[in-house]
Amino acid sequence: MPYQSDHEKERLKKNLYRRFSQHGLMRLKVRRFLYSLGWIFVIQFLQSTKRIVDILFALLIMVPLFPIYAAFFIAYAMRHPMIRTIRRVGRWCVEFDEYYWELPQNQFGDFLRQIKLYRLPVMINILKGDMSFVGPRLVSPGEMSPREKAIRKRYSAAPGLICLWQIRKAGNVHYGHEHESDAEYIDNQSIRGDFGILLRGIPAMLYGEGVDVAPDLITILNIPINNLTMMETIAWILERLEKNQGTSQICFVNADCVNIAYRQQEYLEVLNDSSLVLADGIGLKLAGKFLQQQIKQNVNGTDLFPRLCEALSGTPKRIYLLGARPEAIEGVSSWLRKHYPQVMIAGMQHGYFKPEEEAGVIREIASSQTDILFVAFGAPRQDLWIRKHLKFLNVKIAVGVGGLFDFYSGRIPRAPLWMREIGLEWIYRLYQEPLRMWKRYILGNVAFLYRVFKERFFRRS
Ligand code: UDP
Repeated sequence: MPYQSDHEKERLKKNLYRRFSQHGLMRLKVRRFLYSLGWIFVIQFLQSTKRIVDILFALLIMVPLFPIYAAFFIAYAMRHPMIRTIRRVGRWCVEFDEYYWELPQNQFGDFLRQIKLYRLPVMINILKGDMSFVGPRLVSPGEMSPREKAIRKRYSAAPGLICLWQIRKAGNVHYGHEHESDAEYIDNQSIRGDFGILLRGIPAMLYGEGVDVAPDLITILNIPINNLTMMETIAWILERLEKNQGTSQICFVNADCVNIAYRQQEYLEVLNDSSLVLADGIGLKLAGKFLQQQIKQNVNGTDLFPRLCEALSGTPKRIYLLGARPEAIEGVSSWLRKHYPQVMIAGMQHGYFKPEEEAGVIREIASSQTDILFVAFGAPRQDLWIRKHLKFLNVKIAVGVGGLFDFYSGRIPRAPLWMREIGLEWIYRLYQEPLRMWKRYILGNVAFLYRVFKERFFRRS
């Protein structure tokens, strides 16, 4: 046995006493109990932080508007008809009354309604804990049945004044089902995340709510736009492929494209003759709003591509990728093999071929039995190219997709989702390639806004 000093022996004895004696075991139990109690407090604290933040924010809004809220309480106590309630479904499906002002039906009342002042009393619901600043959308009884499993999750949080789904809808980003956004919110809920949603809610309020019902065809600055959602576009493409309805050209139009079409008659004609012209980006959404031609959804090639690939997976339809740098086209094809291995690739060709090689490229596409040809040369070159060669390409649909291959190959990273949601993808592109993009975005956006403004106030009158 190795030599042990008295000190070490003493320590060992103490240790054994702590672990095996009646008193030692008791102490251990108490310590474990306090430890778990500590965690319970931490979890409770984290849960209640949201509540504390809600209360602080509500007070921050209510204190400066004290006279309005004092009037509310007096009117409420006197059961004045101006104070109304509406039945809502809250957390865990518990129903509550949401308060609002019944505003007079005159110009002043309309103005207050427009700036949403009638909803000021909702702060009382937040103080009471019926609602939160951020949460799933507020619904009325019967609107979203908790009996459906997928929907049930949304009721685990208090409904919010601002919700993720509404922001996506306002930003015109493809927003899928509401319960999917709700579940995403519930799963990733955090105070930091809530602040992010709150900040994103500001531009969303500016853009206004998205529209569900709008004419199928609208015109913005002389360009006919097919007012489809992402899912409607995919359905349109699949139908075209099924029914063999000749060859179709699809173009995506953003604010920059509108500027180009303004200068270039040939491009404007291509857009006018295309089978489908889709509105891409927040510029067109705002223009649509301003010109009273509301756009249903932002349908851009980059977001459409994976969804279309999913729809084509397992079908015999073949796609051809044309354009971008050789490494980008290679990157997209490996991306496709990884994510959509069942999509049939008829062929691919980078976009830096010599003019004398063009005829060969066209022959190769024509003999490849392609159904959908994606052309990524950038607008308007890709759209003019498709227009010029469409009858020789022997494809059912040809789509101009801009920088899509650069994004999916990972050559150029795409703006984070939160930036896309608030319509600021262009700022990210400007930040990535300032020398190439400053003219397009800084000068271009000003020119675009000026044209929209002119159209609204001068042409129309
Ligand atoms: N490109 C090409 N051949 C050329 C010039 C450009 O294939 O001769 C490609 C380029 O590599 C890029 C795309 O065209 O992938 C243009 O991207 P951009 O972001 O400018 O297009 P946008 O989406 O803005 O129309």
